[in-house]
Amino acid sequence: MMKHVKLDGATYEFPIGKILCIGRNYVDHIKELGNEAPDAPVIFMKPSSAVIDDGGTVVIPSYSNDCHHEAELALLIGKTGKNIPAEKVMEHVAGFGVALDLTLRDVQSEQKKKGLPWEIAKGFDSSCPLSSFVSAAQVPDPQNLTIRLTVNGELRQDGCTAMMIHPIADLVSHMSRIFTLEPGDIILTGTPAGVGPLRHGDAVQAEIPQVGKLRVNVIQMTVMD
Ligand code: MG
Repeated sequence: MMKHVKLDGATYEFPIGKILCIGRNYVDHIKELGNEAPDAPVIFMKPSSAVIDDGGTVVIPSYSNDCHHEAELALLIGKTGKNIPAEKVMEHVAGFGVALDLTLRDVQSEQKKKGLPWEIAKGFDSSCPLSSFVSAAQVPDPQNLTIRLTVNGELRQDGCTAMMIHPIADLVSHMSRIFTLEPGDIILTGTPAGVGPLRHGDAVQAEIPQVGKLRVNVIQMTVMD
C-alpha cells in the first residue's frame, strides 16, 4: 500500500517516494561507533514500506538482537530538482519532521565486514518511523534545532543540528547530483551521539522542539513469522 506523509496545515498528503539517508553526519556519533570520518557523504536508502506513523510499533526482526535508535531531522521534498545549487536547496524543502533511522547494528556490522549492502539492516519493515511534518516556513533556522530521544523516559540522545558535518544545503545539493529529487521524497540528515539498543516493550520518544514529536513502542520477534 502506498504510504503518505502529512504536512501540517496542508490539505494534500504527499505519497512517500524514496527515502535518502546520510550516515556519519555528526562527529560525536562517528566517534562513539569508532568509524572514520568519510570524505564524501555516506548515502543509503530506505524503501517507503519501512515507514510507520507516530504511535506505531517497531518490530525488530528475528535475525537481529541489536536494533539501535537513531533520532534524526527529516526533510520533505516539495519540488522536483536535479543538480540543485546549495543556495537554492530550501526552495525544494516543503517541510521538516522527526524520524528514526532504526538500524540493526549487529546485522550492519556483519554486512560492513563482508562489504555487503546495508538494506537488511536499515530498510526492514518499521525501520523508518516518521512524525507529521511542519511547513519549512515555520522553521527559520533548521541548523539550530535540538534533537532529543528518550527510551522509557530516560534521555539517550541530546544533540543539535548545528553539529552536522554536511549541513542541509550541502547535503541536499550533493544528493540531487546523484538522484533527481521529487515531491514526496524524504531525506534523513543523520544522528547525533547517544545511539543505543532497543528492547522488547520499550517506549521511545524522539523530539525536535519547533518540529514535532514521534512516539513508538518496540516489539522483538524471536522466530521468523
Ligand atoms: Mg542514521
